[in-house]
Amino acid sequence: VGQRIGVLGGTFDPVHLGHLSAASHAVSGLGLDQVLFVPAGQPWQKQSVQASGRDRFAMVSLAIEGVQSFAVSRLEIDREGPTYTIDTLRALRSWPQYEQADLFFITGADAIAEIDSWKDHDQLAQLAAFVAVTRPGFDPTTDPDGATLAVPVIRLDVPGLDISSTLIRQRVARGESIDDLTAPNVVRYIDEHRLYSEPDLSSAS
Ligand code: ATP
Ligand code: MG
Repeated sequence: VGQRIGVLGGTFDPVHLGHLSAASHAVSGLGLDQVLFVPAGQPWQKQSVQASGRDRFAMVSLAIEGVQSFAVSRLEIDREGPTYTIDTLRALRSWPQYEQADLFFITGADAIAEIDSWKDHDQLAQLAAFVAVTRPGFDPTTDPDGATLAVPVIRLDVPGLDISSTLIRQRVARGESIDDLTAPNVVRYIDEHRLYSEPDLSSAS
């Protein structure tokens, strides 16, 4: 039988407890064998990413350390140019270990709302099932105008964690603690590498 593989894309600038919780709930809720975290290279939706691909990859690696069902891929950060979900899913499909797999692309309710604007969105559903985990303040079933999404979406209700990477970057820039927002070894990495100490000027939400 094919494996059931979750794919969690994002900038992970930095990874936080909201990501880890969403991934864990996807494993239990959908009976997944693995969740693959895929940090984006140059995301086309965002003005800027603060930490380098290498640092964002390193932080995800630290955050998932020891969790058997979690893995991280360099696929997008090693690729030139902007990151598109369709290309990532096609690439994963071409790997022998995922040829027979059922792929589940996992997003938060905010990210899924933009899906109609994603590259080749009409072909996405042939490559993977789309899962939207609930996130405080967002409706996972509609686009920003309230219209139904073009791609069928599995809604997965998870306990809402009102945590974002933006909040972490803001707190670090103000010299405040982020101990309650991400894994201890990620907190240490941010500190040791002096990440996010400049005020966050990006328009990411
Ligand atoms: P930023 O504030 O920089 O946008 P973020 O916290 O939204 O960061 P991303 O890397 O943009 O993190 O998110 C990657 C994926 O994880 C997206 O699909 C996003 O919707 C989802 N996600 C992020 N935080 C949460 C959360 N607290 N609960 C549920 N899903 C989340
Ligand atoms: Mg985001």
